Amino acid sequence: MSSMRVLVAGGGIGGLCVAQGLKKAGIDCEVYEAAPGLVQGGYRLHMNVLGGDALRDCLPDGLYELYLQTSRRTPRREVSVMVDAQANEIWARPHVGPPNDSPRPHTAVNRRTLRQILATGLDDQLHFGRSAVGFETDDDGVTLLLDDGSRVRGDVVIGADGIHSRIRRQLLPDVREVDTGMRGMWSIAPLTDELAAQLPDVFYDGFVIVNLGDGTILALGVYDPRRPVAEAVAELAPGAHIDDVAPYVMVTYGNDMGAAPGDDLPDFAHDSPAVLHDALRRAARGGHPGLVALVDGVDESTIAPSAVRHLEVADPWAPSRVTLLGDAIHAMPPTFGAGANSALRDAAALTKALQDVVSDGRDLLEAIGDYERQMREEVFPIMRASADPDAVHADTLPEEARR
Ligand SMILES: Cc1cc2nc3c(=O)[nH]c(=O)nc-3n(C[C@H](O)[C@H](O)[C@H](O)COP(=O)(O)OP(=O)(O)OC[C@H]3O[C@@H](n4cnc5c(N)ncnc54)[C@H](O)[C@@H]3O)c2cc1C
Repeated sequence: MSSMRVLVAGGGIGGLCVAQGLKKAGIDCEVYEAAPGLVQGGYRLHMNVLGGDALRDCLPDGLYELYLQTSRRTPRREVSVMVDAQANEIWARPHVGPPNDSPRPHTAVNRRTLRQILATGLDDQLHFGRSAVGFETDDDGVTLLLDDGSRVRGDVVIGADGIHSRIRRQLLPDVREVDTGMRGMWSIAPLTDELAAQLPDVFYDGFVIVNLGDGTILALGVYDPRRPVAEAVAELAPGAHIDDVAPYVMVTYGNDMGAAPGDDLPDFAHDSPAVLHDALRRAARGGHPGLVALVDGVDESTIAPSAVRHLEVADPWAPSRVTLLGDAIHAMPPTFGAGANSALRDAAALTKALQDVVSDGRDLLEAIGDYERQMREEVFPIMRASADPDAVHADTLPEEARR
């Protein structure tokens, strides 16, 4: 196949990354995103080598440098740490992924910033407010069906449309979505000088889980960019639509996956931010003064309820012109901060597979089949391990996640 047209359903982290990769490879690609724009705010994302290397492969050099410069400063210890409510360390363990020891290691990003970087330069190819509802395949190609009744013709469809993927539901209807029943919330506290002075040193490590001992946990992650975001954008991507971001600490609260049944939190979905903030304050009460100050300092407008859902691991399937990446096929609980990294990993691997078809004449279904097999081998073990209720308390990574 000397040329190819790829249709991507979903402009999240994985969908945008594959679009960047295909653009770099000179392959025609269109992205159909259901939302009216990059409306999603969001929390901090831990980054590992799998995701970071995928960004290096898919992004133009300037945007990859922008990702590195707007990533969190390298912390004194790039590890996950569990502490008790008084900030005493219980254990520290490495993150998932290959060794992360370059001079500027992968640390963490602001989710919205990463998405804005990934959208930069894709203007004509990124179609907002267009929901995919299904597909039709035939011997010559594939048609993506959109909710406004329009039909788009291409050679390959990529379902990058998240955990509730319409593309997966048609392709692999037996894969079930699992609601863990775990409920909670995430929020952001501005990292002011006054707050920074009160936080114990351990809160500045890579990622911090506070075991409150009552079946709930708080998870904390600092985001302080290596260089002010606006300054880095002005130099590396002038004119790009990328918001400035002040340093903050992400604060999440929820059930401990390893807790006994019956410890479930109420469903916070319909509570006001003030009620959620009160629940956060109650959770931190009596804890280390830095923890109490952190929770007090949460910006109420950023508090959003969360529910942990994931997919069942799919049995192997036959390759076709329709494939999947990211949460659409392996949505997992955020135990190891590996979901977005895995979506990025898929994007780079799929770009490479499709590039081999166009430049080396590789058979399309063979290339897609190899991509899917490798994804099952590399990502499904992490997916399985992250849904293990004991994983959050293990001071070493489970065997399946050690790759
Ligand atoms: C609280 C929390 C913390 C997390 N922290 C981390 C972390 O630190 N590190 C990490 O690696 N991962 C983390 N994750 C996981 C990570 O957020 C996901 O794995 C990642 O966003 C998956 O990217 P994606 O592009 O596959 O899917 P999504 O980000 O879900 O993107 C899917 C896109 O498709 C669009 N869409 C949906 N349906 C349609 C349709 N029918 N047609 C067109 N478009 C559609 C959506 O609007 C969305 O833009 C976390 C998740 C949660 C909930």
